Amino acid sequence: MAGNEEVKKDYLRRLSSVNDLIQAFYRSRMAGNRTIPRELITEASRAVLEGVREAILAARDEMSLQNISTDTEELVSMVEKEVEERMRPSFRRVINATGVVVHTNLGRSILPAAAIEALRTAAAHYSNLEFRLEDGTRGSRQVHLRRILCELTGAESALVVNNNAAAVLLALTAHARDREVIVSRGQLIEIGGSFRLPEVMAQSGARLVEVGTTNKTYLEDYRKAITSETAVIMRAHPSNYRILGFTAEVDLAELASLAHEYGLILLDDLGSGVYVDLSRFGLSPEPTITDSLRAGADLVCFSGDKLLGGPQAGIILGREELVDAMAKHPLARALRADKLTVAALEATLRLYLDPERALAEIPTLAMITADPESLRERAERLAGKLSSACPDLRVEVMEDVSRAGGGSLPLEDLPTWVVAVESSRLKVNRLEERLRRHDPPVIGRIKEERFLLDVRTLRDEELSLVVEAFRSSAGHEEG
Ligand SMILES: *Cc1c(COP(=O)(O)O)cnc(C)c1O
Repeated sequence: MAGNEEVKKDYLRRLSSVNDLIQAFYRSRMAGNRTIPRELITEASRAVLEGVREAILAARDEMSLQNISTDTEELVSMVEKEVEERMRPSFRRVINATGVVVHTNLGRSILPAAAIEALRTAAAHYSNLEFRLEDGTRGSRQVHLRRILCELTGAESALVVNNNAAAVLLALTAHARDREVIVSRGQLIEIGGSFRLPEVMAQSGARLVEVGTTNKTYLEDYRKAITSETAVIMRAHPSNYRILGFTAEVDLAELASLAHEYGLILLDDLGSGVYVDLSRFGLSPEPTITDSLRAGADLVCFSGDKLLGGPQAGIILGREELVDAMAKHPLARALRADKLTVAALEATLRLYLDPERALAEIPTLAMITADPESLRERAERLAGKLSSACPDLRVEVMEDVSRAGGGSLPLEDLPTWVVAVESSRLKVNRLEERLRRHDPPVIGRIKEERFLLDVRTLRDEELSLVVEAFRSSAGHEEG
């Protein structure tokens, strides 16, 4: 292959130097764009030249060599692409067409307009975060949330921390450090993102006492496990799974009586924290936050950004002296919620003062309870737009099921309508990849060789963005 080596050397000689490429870049289309740091252009030019050099050296024959361009104009376009890629923020908006409403990987809940407005104000201005306007003395950031939480739920007191994992950690550290906590074996959960109850327990310094079996635990199992070392009986919502068939768990009210008979604390980790009973929308009944308090739980904790539909937060409700002890614990300072969370959460909670308004204005709730007819109508609208923009696509509106997600209502099938798309030119995996790499990315799901767009999690104003993504992704097959 000696001849080949000569040709390769010739190709390498023809490549511009880094400096020449940078100069060419400045003379080209991006000339005058002063917002791009010079350092970045240098790095991008280096990367492009390095890539081309490697491709030349790796070429097996003249055919593959001929496919490599050393033309400076083409190298400049490659640098432009590279620069764009590197300038693009890492954290970006995506379009969720998966139908999974509380999608853990896509940012869980999106906020109601009122919360976004409150966030904006809190971000742009000084605030009374920890300042009492009544007398000009130092205040607590917790009062803003405690008032509304107690009003909504009837709880004696409330505390908000960074997330629900923090709430559980703080509750166990403040109330069960070096003592025992009794948990049913059926509830020793792991939730995505490495929240494993036994590990959180170990971190808190509490000792886990498992009772019952995976599928059945009785009141007597708890009673027999109580010793002078016991501090807490804990119930954890089996968020992302269900044990079906021959099963038994103890009713919360019975657990409460048992705990109180022995002077113990009953801690209920609800996970998702549903405030409005969703069973009238055909969803299976879930214990609400208020049910849990009424049943006698001393401390109840749940996430702010799952079914509650607010910002990421861990909300703790319960008996005043227990919540107070947690608020005063040194760990509380490390786990506290920031002011943007306080603002967005208060605004979200205020919507719950009128539950009908909450259902309409909190996107998570509105999506979960969306009426199938309106979903069908949206799917048809999207399909129509897609067919006219991309005549090559085979587009069909059909029924399917979506999931609530986020460890909430795990087995619930929410009947939905999807647009199933098939391209005559692109395999479905390529189509999925291109849509994912589009800006903004469109994330859907693949089923039976078709790309499904579930309109439950799409908003009307996003439909044209989806169509645009298909127009630029599905039009042609590149080499
Ligand atoms: C989701 C969940 C958690 C963790 O909540 P984060 O807000 O994600 O920290 C803890 N416990 C249960 C039962 C959950 O479902």
